[in-house]
Amino acid sequence: MTTPSNHRPIVDEPVPQLKRWGAPELERLTTMVDQASLFYWKGPQTSALLDEFRRHYPLKYCFPCSSGTASLHIAVASLRLKPGEEVIVAPITDMGSVIGILYQQAVPVFADLDPRTYNLDPADVRRRITPKTRAIMAVHLAGNPADMGAIMAIAKEHKLAVIEDCAQAWGTTWQGKPVGTFGDLGCFSLNDFKHIGCGDGGIVGTNSEVLGPGLGKWGDKSYDRVKGGRDPEDLAPNYRISEPQAAVGAAQLLKLNDIIAKRNRAGSLLTSLIESAPGVLPPAVVPGNKHSYWFYMLRLELDRFKCSREELVAALNAEGVPARAGYIPRVVYQYPVFQNHNFFGGAWPIRDFGLTKMNYKEVSCPMAEAILNDCSVLTLNQEMTDSYINKVGKAICTVAARLAK
Ligand SMILES: *Cc1c(COP(=O)(O)O)cnc(C)c1O
Repeated sequence: MTTPSNHRPIVDEPVPQLKRWGAPELERLTTMVDQASLFYWKGPQTSALLDEFRRHYPLKYCFPCSSGTASLHIAVASLRLKPGEEVIVAPITDMGSVIGILYQQAVPVFADLDPRTYNLDPADVRRRITPKTRAIMAVHLAGNPADMGAIMAIAKEHKLAVIEDCAQAWGTTWQGKPVGTFGDLGCFSLNDFKHIGCGDGGIVGTNSEVLGPGLGKWGDKSYDRVKGGRDPEDLAPNYRISEPQAAVGAAQLLKLNDIIAKRNRAGSLLTSLIESAPGVLPPAVVPGNKHSYWFYMLRLELDRFKCSREELVAALNAEGVPARAGYIPRVVYQYPVFQNHNFFGGAWPIRDFGLTKMNYKEVSCPMAEAILNDCSVLTLNQEMTDSYINKVGKAICTVAARLAK
């Protein structure tokens, strides 16, 4: 796919860059400097972070923590799973989804995905339920909501808890209601790469009167900050946030609606421009849902092209499209840590003690594997104007037509 060196790309401008921090962050950090303490408990910045968070997510009990991974670990720990009990989870996700499950000596059970939303396929979730299943973790990949209607129905039927991994899904709604408010626990990331960030941070929230009151103890050494004193009842790590991160996070939340509106507009426009391009399958958004496009992932029907995915993506890049071949290198259960069951000192104690028969070498989620083999991830951000997206759409249509069989 050689392109002449004097070729003028269809997208003839660089990827718009983000200016992420400014006056609101500076204002909060400036007031913070006069505080006597930067500790999170009763800290004014941390309180502001929670107030702003609750404006978007009306959750009664919220604990701000050090990362999205921490928020998910706290959520899993709060369910008090017994060693060997199972949590059903998506195989295309960040390691942060599964780390907490493993540290709690529970078993991640991978279920296959929907071919067009790349989120949990409810029918396959049902097939993976065993007597040991205790929870479903729904990951809202890329900002497209998982099917919360079906997932909550399955959970109710089988008395399972639901944890929502909303790390990629700030501002996403399912049938008009924000994701993170359907399940028993909603988990969010404020890492540097997410829609909004504070360097590193996370929030876990719940409306459950059972899980809520003790939630924070799972991220604060099992110390009870409400009662005071130290009398830990459980083993829990220190996953606390601190005031500087909370200050930036609180300021970032002020921009959330604007960021999501712009990303949703850009993503929807791109889909409308490329949905009839040959061999190109844009992400499917179920009517009534809102995708917040942390990134834009499409699939390529490779048998309809006369070249490989890598050559197609190279041709897109030559036209200025910020696309890359693939997303994560392989499905999570194929990572060496899972294939070698190398979780604790080269071993997996719960398996060695007969508490699970799980063998990740035998796990198969064919649709998830197919998605990773033919997908392309495009950068999408809130600075992309309609005119920029129009060029991206035109470039994709042109390249697809040129390389179709
Ligand atoms: C980013 C991410 C996490 C982990 O968040 P960190 O803040 O990086 O720990 C978890 N799940 C998903 C789906 C993510 O994208």
